[in-house]
Amino acid sequence: RILSTFKEGEDNINVVVRVRPLNNREARSGDETVIQFPGNGQILCESGSGQKPRQFSYNVVFEPAATQEDVLQFSGVKRLIEMSLEGFRCTAFCYGQTGSGKTHTLTGPPGLFGKKMAPYSDQHGLVFRSFLYLFQLIKERPEKHFVLKASYLEIYNEKVIDLLNPGSLRKPLAVRWSKKARGFFVENLFTVDCEELDDLLAVLEEGMRNRSMGSHHMNENSSRSHTILSVHITSEQPAENGVFISRSGKINFVDLAGSEMTKKTRSEGKTLEEANNINKSLMVLGYCIASLSDRKRKTNHIPYRDSKLTKLLADSLAGNGVTLMIACISPARFNLAETVNTLRYAARAK
Ligand code: ADP
Ligand code: MG
Repeated sequence: RILSTFKEGEDNINVVVRVRPLNNREARSGDETVIQFPGNGQILCESGSGQKPRQFSYNVVFEPAATQEDVLQFSGVKRLIEMSLEGFRCTAFCYGQTGSGKTHTLTGPPGLFGKKMAPYSDQHGLVFRSFLYLFQLIKERPEKHFVLKASYLEIYNEKVIDLLNPGSLRKPLAVRWSKKARGFFVENLFTVDCEELDDLLAVLEEGMRNRSMGSHHMNENSSRSHTILSVHITSEQPAENGVFISRSGKINFVDLAGSEMTKKTRSEGKTLEEANNINKSLMVLGYCIASLSDRKRKTNHIPYRDSKLTKLLADSLAGNGVTLMIACISPARFNLAETVNTLRYAARAK
């Protein structure tokens, strides 16, 4: 078995967990797995000191043998893509400690995007596969006219950097409130018209290149930044008496900063501000999705405004948006403490 399902996702938020395989280093050092898979979307995780293992439940659990294509097919992301075409705001994000497989899940292993992108590698991640599916759906709807625009940004220490147009100084862009659109937006963010699949893939490739170059150049660490790749989808369909029905949806793919950053940097003085910002973003995101997941619970105030990340995701976290959380974990005992943190965070969201 490679995955198990508790419930097909029809909610505003669905939570899936992906457990990566033990890596070579862990296997060589004799580290062992602390995760078991009883089925039905359940995870059993050791709790240490001889206590009973803890049990957690999610919409879907991907076991280490699950492939990139399995994640596309069974995570529920296809529903998000379908809904984004119908005018909904959708977000798929990966949460987890550094090294847990967030970037692997979204975009694939490092080096996949070299000078020439390997055309149909089985290593391609969820974003690439989602783009293929998106264009497949568009082809199946010839009666509608779709306009796609893509952008790709990075949030590092509460500064927004355009990954499609970073400039040599990586000057941060402002996040503002638009009265007209009744939402937050990034001022002067580069958006690319994407008529074909190749245009979207070029955006993905360019943004990834700039992300790694930027972090190298500025001696930054990609595990401390969040990235948001957004595709805005507008559709027009002729209706009766010559009017057009126009809809505007969006899908965001979000690669979050490593969830461990706070604790590890807490004592390091200089990076405290940074750690706080990362912590704040992830905490606020946690509040937002917890209140999303429980519509009956009366949440008076959802603190979207407390971080750039949640400002920019607010439209898909609130209202009639749809969100998919992919919690990524390592199976190794070495990572047990962070793994339990991630499993808890994800369980709260569900
Ligand atoms: P993160 O983005 O969470 O820091 P990465 O995606 O960079 O973690 O993963 C760390 C390493 O583990 C990478 O070399 C990646 O290719 C590998 N890896 C992660 N998930 C898987 C998986 N499901 N199968 C194979 N290798 C994986
Ligand atoms: Mg990463």
